Amino acid sequence: MGDRYSRQELFSPIGKQGQDLIRSKHVLVVGAGALGSANCEMLTRAGVGKLTIIDRDYVEESNLQRQQLYTEADVQERMPKAEAARRHLQSINSDVEIEAVVADGTALTLQPLVQKADVVIDSTDNFETRMIINDLTQKYSIPWIYGACVGSSGMSFTIIPGETPCLHCLLSTLPIQGMTCDTNGIIAPAVTMVVAHQHTETLKMLTENWSALRPGFVSFDVWNNQYHVIKASKMKKSSCLSCGEEPTYPFLQIEKATKTAVLCGRNTVQIRPSSERKLNLVKLAEDLRNGGYEVKANAFLISLETNGQRMVIFQDGRALVHDTKDEAQAKSLYQRILG
Ligand SMILES: [Zn+2]
Repeated sequence: MGDRYSRQELFSPIGKQGQDLIRSKHVLVVGAGALGSANCEMLTRAGVGKLTIIDRDYVEESNLQRQQLYTEADVQERMPKAEAARRHLQSINSDVEIEAVVADGTALTLQPLVQKADVVIDSTDNFETRMIINDLTQKYSIPWIYGACVGSSGMSFTIIPGETPCLHCLLSTLPIQGMTCDTNGIIAPAVTMVVAHQHTETLKMLTENWSALRPGFVSFDVWNNQYHVIKASKMKKSSCLSCGEEPTYPFLQIEKATKTAVLCGRNTVQIRPSSERKLNLVKLAEDLRNGGYEVKANAFLISLETNGQRMVIFQDGRALVHDTKDEAQAKSLYQRILG
C-alpha cells in the first residue's frame, strides 16, 4: 500500500502529514444518490479513515445515468443504495471502514451519526433533510458542506458553526428552496461539478487547511456557461433560530411530526411507522405470498405489486408507495399490508 496515496501526498498542501490526518477522520455522507455516490467514491479513494452512508432508497434503472457507483445487478436485486454503495466502495478500498445505514434521514436517525462525524456532507435531494442537517450540525458544532443540483446547474456552500452563516441564514436571500426537486431532469456533469466543490472543501477540512476554505456561496450552470461566487460572510444573522444568539433548532421539532411525505419529483409517497419496529422480512414475504401478492424480497426489503401499484417495505417498517402522490391512499395501502 506504500504507493497508494503518493500522488495526493505529493500535492504540497496535503503531504504525508495531511494523508495521516485524512486517515484519522470520520465523514458522514447523507444520501447515496448522485451526489452521495460520487462523494463517497472520492472519499474512499482518498483514504478516509471511516465513512458512514445513510440513505432511504434502493437502486432503480433511472439512477444509472448519473449515480456512478451502481450497476444493472443492483437494479435487478433492488439493493438499498447505502448497502450497494458500501459493497462497491469496499472493493475499491478495503482499508476504509464503511458503515451503511438503510434509513430515512430524520432528526432521530441523523443525530447519533452527526455527533460522531468530523465532517458532514449533504448529498440529499430535499429541503427538509438539509434543514435537519443544518440544525444538528449547529447544535453539535460539526462542519458541513451543502450541495445541490438540478438540470445543468448546481450550488455549494461550506458551513462552519460559529464562523460562517448557516443555511437557515441564507434562506431569505438565496434560491435554496428551488434546488430540491429534480422535475427538470439532470445531467451528470452538474453532479460532478458540485461534488468537485464539496470534495475539495472536505479535503481541506480533513487535512485541517482551514484558511484555504472558500468563504463564498458558489453557483454555476455548466450548460449555459455561468459561474458565480457570492460573498456570504455578512449574511450571518444574530436572530437566526438555528445559529443565532438564542437557537431553538426549529427543524428538529417540525420533523418529528411528519409521518408521510411525497418524495421530491418522484411520484412516490414515503410512510414512516409512528413507532420503531423491526420486521421479520422472511416471514412477512411468506405471509404476503400466501395472501396472493406478487412479492420480490432480499435481505433488506420487500417489493410487492397490488392493483397496478408497487410498494417497497424496509426492515424498519418504513415503506415507499410508488405511482401516487396521494398520501391518504398510500397510508391506507400501508395499513392494509402491515396493520
Ligand atoms: Zn443561521
